[in-house]
Amino acid sequence: MPDAAVHIRGVRKQFTQTIRALENIDLDVAPGEFVCLLGPSGCGKSTLLNVIAGFIAPDEGTVEAFGKPVRAPGPERAMVFQEYALFPWMTVFENIAFGLEIKRANGIAPTVERLLDKLSLKGFSDRFPKDLSGGMRQRVAIARALAIESPMLLMDEPFGALDALTRRSMQDDLLRIWSELKRTIVFVTHGIDESVYLADRVVVMTYRPGTVKRIVEIPLPRPRDPGSPEFARTVRELTALVQEEQRRHEREEFS
Ligand code: ADP
Ligand code: MG
Repeated sequence: MPDAAVHIRGVRKQFTQTIRALENIDLDVAPGEFVCLLGPSGCGKSTLLNVIAGFIAPDEGTVEAFGKPVRAPGPERAMVFQEYALFPWMTVFENIAFGLEIKRANGIAPTVERLLDKLSLKGFSDRFPKDLSGGMRQRVAIARALAIESPMLLMDEPFGALDALTRRSMQDDLLRIWSELKRTIVFVTHGIDESVYLADRVVVMTYRPGTVKRIVEIPLPRPRDPGSPEFARTVRELTALVQEEQRRHEREEFS
């Protein structure tokens, strides 16, 4: 069996006496899989993603990516943030080429041109981020992550700041790229709908401590129709899980 893209066992991360951000996390992500981390604000989604990225070291437990222990950020795990992910003083072209220049790769221009095309950014290579829409900026950020050919994209609510229509078209772009390029994606969201639209599996997390409550498979064929009864049923199932967790937390916090 090939190495898992992500292999996590017994991970714990406590920030303060009271804030147990992650506890007892076990998670495996297969190569090429699209996994969403779902849960309310503050449940530890970003912390878990940052542990996978190597930005945060867990207090306990093991984290491996593609069979190697994660000790620091690495080029095989590219992070895409919600905002501020671009260098404002660089053009679109320079932003996308940034990682390539570090790697001193040959043929920077063809690679960048191909990505501009793939992400519908043709003709915008000389623009600066401030002269782009939110959706276009996020497409540049994704292009940059793809440029360095990371086998894994780690995405922290990347479409959270976009309006609903732009978000849907970005989701479609991402799914198209994912199926063409066969990357592994770990995608953080608090949107139940978004997780059902995107993921092979949804990891539902609990709040304080942040644990894995349930891992739900989404067996719906793609492209998925948010108007279909199967889609609605899956959204209801996940909503019930999230609400159950919210009630549990309220009882605990206010009793
Ligand atoms: P999410 O991404 O699900 O909203 P986070 O992973 O950002 O949640 O945070 C989980 C919990 O840890 C929250 O209660 C948050 O306030 C706390 N937290 C996150 N980062 C830090 C930090 N650097 N220091 C202290 N507490 C933190
Ligand atoms: Mg977060």
